[in-house]
Amino acid sequence: MSTQAASIKPVDTKKILIGMLFGTIVGLILNFLQLPKPIDTFLVDGIFSFGGQVFITLMKMLVVPVVFISLVCGASSLGESGKIGRIGAKALFLYILTTAAAISLGIFFATTLNIGGSAQLAHVQSNYVAPPVPSLFDTFLKMFPSNPFAAMAQGEMLQIIIFSVLVGVAISFSGERGQRVADLLHNMNTVVATLVTMIFRLTPYGVFFLLASLFARVGFQLIGDLLGYFFTVVGVLILHGLVVNGFLLVVLGRLNPMMFFKKFYPVMVFAFSTSSSTATIPVTLDTTENKLGVAKNVASFLIPLGATVNMNGTAIMQGIATVFIAHVYGIEIGIAGYLTVVLMATIAAIGTAGIPSVGLITLVMVLNQVGVPADGITLIIGVDRLLDMTRTVVNTMGDAIVACIVAKSEDHFDQATYDDPNAGLQLSSQPEL
Ligand code: ASP
Repeated sequence: MSTQAASIKPVDTKKILIGMLFGTIVGLILNFLQLPKPIDTFLVDGIFSFGGQVFITLMKMLVVPVVFISLVCGASSLGESGKIGRIGAKALFLYILTTAAAISLGIFFATTLNIGGSAQLAHVQSNYVAPPVPSLFDTFLKMFPSNPFAAMAQGEMLQIIIFSVLVGVAISFSGERGQRVADLLHNMNTVVATLVTMIFRLTPYGVFFLLASLFARVGFQLIGDLLGYFFTVVGVLILHGLVVNGFLLVVLGRLNPMMFFKKFYPVMVFAFSTSSSTATIPVTLDTTENKLGVAKNVASFLIPLGATVNMNGTAIMQGIATVFIAHVYGIEIGIAGYLTVVLMATIAAIGTAGIPSVGLITLVMVLNQVGVPADGITLIIGVDRLLDMTRTVVNTMGDAIVACIVAKSEDHFDQATYDDPNAGLQLSSQPEL
């Protein structure tokens, strides 16, 4: 079947990097220049913010159709074999394992370096009021959709995932009529893939606008007050992102990690610029399928699921933040307390939506559990924007890595595509496996 998608060229990844660099440089220059207010406002809050927001909005526009259509297609081809349950179970196991490892790494470094132990932070103040945190009961209940259309309208990812998987499985058991619906959805999938390619072509410009407006406004003096916290989080994120993830790829996936990082960096730039795993889903999905060789039916299930529940980067921040705030307040957490932090931060990370800054809200859950005042979030909120960007990169990496490992173990993986440095650069969609 020939597809229109083949005639639209995917975005050149070098251009994305150039957009990122230029955006960062222009933003930093504006930050230090302190132009007269009207000009600065016109440029930063006007042109750059507008350009960036239009781009993010267009990306978000893709998320629900991409997830629904590709997931129904994927589940319909896996449903009958019962494989979908096993794939989901394997992925959930790896999500929990890697999240718990990530938090433990964070706690280890935060306690070893004693961050916040000698902090003089009384002058770092804001009007942060901890928002109410939903109970665990509500969090789990909210996974089930009472109205799938409302779930789609509100972008409730877990509800959309559950509904799509059920529809896919139902299609696979509905004989010839089900097949006709599946054919229709496969055709729609091609159209949506073309739309994704069209919008991806805007990425270099979108990334430029987002980073220019961000770096023009970042308060670097706040980072100075929180050097220890800031660099511990960034350091552990890099360690987990490169070393732990590399190890997982080699040991569990028998895959070359350098190839993964090389192919995945445009997704990282995107995740960094948007601070949103959810908005990044279409890009992650495209890369995982077309460049990393994960079969469509597995990627379409695991990437949205991972973007919603698998948050290694967020977990790292939550572990370190808990230790840091406890140190500043002079609270002794103790071994049992740290184990509680690992458990709670794993749950909190699962409950964190893939949108900017939500990790800070679910951090309240962890702090409450170990008796550390939630007001402590006031201390770190000022530097959270940059950390949010960095942890979102690690969050999305984890999703793709688990998808590769699980797909390979289930024989839904194309090694030749993974090993081919040029895979996915010509066409926007690969044939289904
Ligand atoms: N921004 C993160 C993400 O989308 C979530 C968070 O930690 O706030 O993955």
